[in-house]
Amino acid sequence: MVEQQLRKRGIDDPAVLAAFEQVPRHRFVPEDQARYAYEDRPLPIGRGQTISQPYVVAVMVQELKVSSGDSVLDVGSGSGYQTAILAHLAGHVYAIERIEELAERSMGVLASLGVANVTFRTGDGSLGWPEHAPYGGIICGAGAPDIPESWVAQLADGGRIVAPTGGAGGQTLTAVEKRDGKVTRRPLLDVRFVKLIGRDGWPDEEPRL
Ligand code: SAH
Repeated sequence: MVEQQLRKRGIDDPAVLAAFEQVPRHRFVPEDQARYAYEDRPLPIGRGQTISQPYVVAVMVQELKVSSGDSVLDVGSGSGYQTAILAHLAGHVYAIERIEELAERSMGVLASLGVANVTFRTGDGSLGWPEHAPYGGIICGAGAPDIPESWVAQLADGGRIVAPTGGAGGQTLTAVEKRDGKVTRRPLLDVRFVKLIGRDGWPDEEPRL
């Protein structure tokens, strides 16, 4: 996976590649998906959600450019795979997931792997997590119409946000950088993510029973 899918496609940050070497992706997917865990595609993780394709996670994490002194906010932590990769690169990771069942499962996997520098919360990550701000990086694995204002407000100077933005049917992976109070944004690639459901994302359309 690291050789063929990441290095050959231009992922060249040694720390990022080392993190992918160390995190066992098969542990983060449901048992019946484990044999596909190192394939070049997203996989279902239950509750209509997906773990992103390894390459997309690598592009996002590489663009975030975090180091061991940074706190990172991971919105929509889902399976916990990207959270675990970030935990290898950052000082501390704050992870928010909307679906309790997924958060519980991912917390169990991270604990069993001995990953200790992650704090989880269940809730609406479209509002960020102001208590632990500012963050050196904010990353999101679900698509919103645009980057929520609260994320920009919670970003440290010199920090970056990497998240998909645009319509529900397809988005642009966007990198936002804040420097000397100035915010710039740059498109990275076309992607298709599940929806960020919340106050600064999309409305919840599931019928309430
Ligand atoms: N990086 C994750 C991607 C999971 S898919 C992984 O590697 O597995 C995106 C996740 O975002 C889903 O689990 C979904 O439940 C979650 N999500 C959607 N809206 C959210 C919100 N407002 N706050 C937190 N999590 C949200």
